[in-house]
Amino acid sequence: MAVNILIVEDEGAIARFLELELTHEGYTVAKASDGRSGLDMALNGAYDLILLDVMLPGLNGLEVLRRLRAESDVPVILLTARDAVMDKVSGLDMGANDYITKPFSIEELLARIRAALRSGAAEKRPAALRWGRLTLDPARHTAVYGQEPLQLTYKEFALLQTLLENRDIVQTRDMLMEKVWGYDYAGETNVVDVYVRYLRQKIDAAFGVKLITTVRGMGYVIKGDGP
Ligand code: CA
Repeated sequence: MAVNILIVEDEGAIARFLELELTHEGYTVAKASDGRSGLDMALNGAYDLILLDVMLPGLNGLEVLRRLRAESDVPVILLTARDAVMDKVSGLDMGANDYITKPFSIEELLARIRAALRSGAAEKRPAALRWGRLTLDPARHTAVYGQEPLQLTYKEFALLQTLLENRDIVQTRDMLMEKVWGYDYAGETNVVDVYVRYLRQKIDAAFGVKLITTVRGMGYVIKGDGP
């Protein structure tokens, strides 16, 4: 299966060099040349790994990383300038998997890419979840209805995944809060209702099905294997 790598790098010569080398190694490569479009692509595409330059126009790389980590755990390797120690420390704090200092040898970068891909793949790779024509693939973080890709946010995806993994078992709002948002989430439990509504707009309303059932006074459940 193709391994997709996104390069976010504003220096054209470096980006082209990386593209050539990575393509030569058999990776599929996409490029962005500023922070904002890089973040958009990272959030909306199915990438296996992201090479993220720190010094970028628009949003800098650390800000891209911070916003990306609110939604995604895709492996990220930062490209930092020599001696930019602070960038490395804050980058790793913010959830970068690794960093490499410019100028770097392509062999070193390729080794780090392989390591980051292995650590990403070593985490659980759960099987795809199906309900009717809906397929949710937690390993690749993709959702499709029939042939149609669904654009779900990170939390929408996590909520749907939780309901599908516990199908026919009513999930209370508290259970969903704990599983999807975590114990220390300080918000209101009606955030669950809001996200159920988002999912209903994107799936029930769009495809004329009844995916999530409200159990009055209890919570929510997805029943059976779908239509
Ligand atoms: Ca740069």
